[in-house]
Amino acid sequence: MIDLSVEARSLLATLGVADDALTGDLPVRSPVNGQEIARVATATRQMACDGIASAHAAFQAWRLVPAPRRGELVRLLGEELRAGKSALGRLVSIEAGKSPSEGLGEVQEMIDICDFAVGLSRQLHGLTIATERPDHRMMETWHPLGVTGVISAFNFPVAVWSWNAALALVCGNPVVWKPSEKTPLTALACQALFHRAAARFAASGTAVPDGLSVLLTGGRAVGEILVDHPDVKLVSATGSTDMGRAVGQRLAARFARAILELGGNNAAIVTPSADLELALRGVAFAAMGTAGQRCTTLRRLFVHDAIYDGFVARLKSAYATVTVGSPLEEGNLVGPLIDAAAMDRMQRALESARALGGVVTGGHREGAADWPDAYYVRPALVEMPEQAGPVLDETFAPILYVMKYSDFDRAVALQNAVPQGLSSAVFTTDLRQAERFLSAAGSDCGIANVNIGTSGAEIGGAFGGEKETGGGRESGSDAWKGYMRRATNTINYGTTLPLAQGVSFDI
Ligand code: NAD
Repeated sequence: MIDLSVEARSLLATLGVADDALTGDLPVRSPVNGQEIARVATATRQMACDGIASAHAAFQAWRLVPAPRRGELVRLLGEELRAGKSALGRLVSIEAGKSPSEGLGEVQEMIDICDFAVGLSRQLHGLTIATERPDHRMMETWHPLGVTGVISAFNFPVAVWSWNAALALVCGNPVVWKPSEKTPLTALACQALFHRAAARFAASGTAVPDGLSVLLTGGRAVGEILVDHPDVKLVSATGSTDMGRAVGQRLAARFARAILELGGNNAAIVTPSADLELALRGVAFAAMGTAGQRCTTLRRLFVHDAIYDGFVARLKSAYATVTVGSPLEEGNLVGPLIDAAAMDRMQRALESARALGGVVTGGHREGAADWPDAYYVRPALVEMPEQAGPVLDETFAPILYVMKYSDFDRAVALQNAVPQGLSSAVFTTDLRQAERFLSAAGSDCGIANVNIGTSGAEIGGAFGGEKETGGGRESGSDAWKGYMRRATNTINYGTTLPLAQGVSFDI
C-alpha cells in the first residue's frame, strides 16, 4: 500500500503548514486507502472562545477598512490559491477522495470566488428610494455584520469555506471556520495560504488584525460553540439536514442569522424530445461523479415511457463500465466513499429499495482485497416501481433511482414531492416544457436547469435550495447581502418636519 501520509505532509509543508500543527487527538484518514495520514488537535472550549474573541476584536478594525481595500486582501488570497493550486488540489484528492480533475476544480472554484469578491468589493451598493416627504432623501446603506462562523462538510472541504470567506471578508466580517472533522488538513492549508496573503497585504500598508481568519478544528461540539456564541452574528452551515435542523433552531433561539446549505434529493426528467446523447452524459456525470457525494448529485430520474427501455439500457451499460478506483490515478471516474459508515448507509438504502420492489444494478463493493480499509463501490442504478421509501431520502452515495412517467406535469409534481429542494433538471428540446419547468408552477428547487445535469454549479449564481435544504444562498448574485446588515436612512434637508402618512403632532 502506498504511504499517503508522507505525500500529505510534504504537500502541507509546501502550502505552509508547520509540522507541529499535525499532532493531536483527531485522526485524519484518507478515503483513498483508509490510512491514517495525520492527526490534528480538537480545539478546546477555551481555544474556541479565545478564537471567537480575537475575531470579534478584529471586527472592530476590519469594518473600518474601505471595502475595495478589503478586496485587495481577497485578491492576494486568490493569488496564493493560484500558486498553491496543484498542491492543494492534490491534498483535496488525498483527504476527500476526489479525482485529480475534481480536486483541482475545487481549488479553481476558490480562485473564481475570490475574483468575484474582488469585483464585489466595489459594488456593495444600496438604493436611493423615493420619499413621500418634501426635502427628504431616503436610502439604504449596507454595513459589515460581525463575526461570521463557517461550518463545512467533508465533500467540499475547501470550496465552501472560500464561498463564505471571500464574501464575508470583503463585506467587512472576520471568519471563524469549523471544517469537517473528516477533512481538517485541507483547512489547515487554506489557513496557511490566508496567512501568506495577509502578510503580503500588511506589507502593502494596511494592518491585518489578528483574528481576521480563525480556524477551529474538531467535531460537532466545536461547531456548537460557534453556534451558541453571542459574538458570532452569522453562521453559514453546510451539511446534513439533521445538522441544519439542530443548528438552525439554536441560532433562531438567540436571533442570530443563519445560512443553511443542507441535503439535496435532486431529480431530472428526460422527455421524449430530449437530445439523448447529451442527456446520457448529463445524467451519468451528475449521478456518478464524486461517487454520488455531492449535495447536488442526481438521485432520482424520471424517464418518459416512450424512451425508457432504450435510454435506461444505455445508462446501465455506462454504470457497468464506468471506471471505479483510486482517485489519485488519472482515468478513474468514481473514487471511494468517505468511510465505512457511508458504505453501510448505502447498502441499507439498497435493501429498503429491494423490499419495495426496486431492481438494483450494481451497488456492490469493489476492490476490497486491494483496499481492505477503503470503500469503493460500483454505482447503483435502481429501477423503482414508484417514488417511495429510500427514494424520499438523501443517501450520500451513488444510488440513482429510476422511474417511468407518462405525463409531464405529473413528473414535475413527483420531482417536487420530496422534502428537499436543492437542484433539478429537465432534458428536453420542447420550449414549452422547458419554460414550464422553470416557471412558478415548475420545479420548486433553488437550482433548476435545462439540458444540464443537477450538479456542477458555477460561482456566479446564488447557490442553495429550498425546503429541507435550508433556504440559504451563497456565492454569486446578491448572496453578499446575507453577510451584511442593512440600514434605511432618511435625511431631512428642509426646515420643516413633515410626518409620513399625513400624521400631525403639533406641540
Ligand atoms: P454533517 O452534517 O455530518 O457535518 C457537516 C458539518 O457540521 C461538520 O463540520 C460537522 O462537524 C458539523 N456538525 C454536525 N452536527 C452539528 C451540530 N449539531 N452543531 C454544529 N455543527 C455540527 O455532513 P457531512 O457528512 O460532512 O456532509 C454531507 C452532507 O452535507 C450531505 O447531506 C450533503 O448534501 C450536505 N451538503 C450540502 C451542501 C449544500 O450546499 N447544500 C454542500 C455540501 C454538502
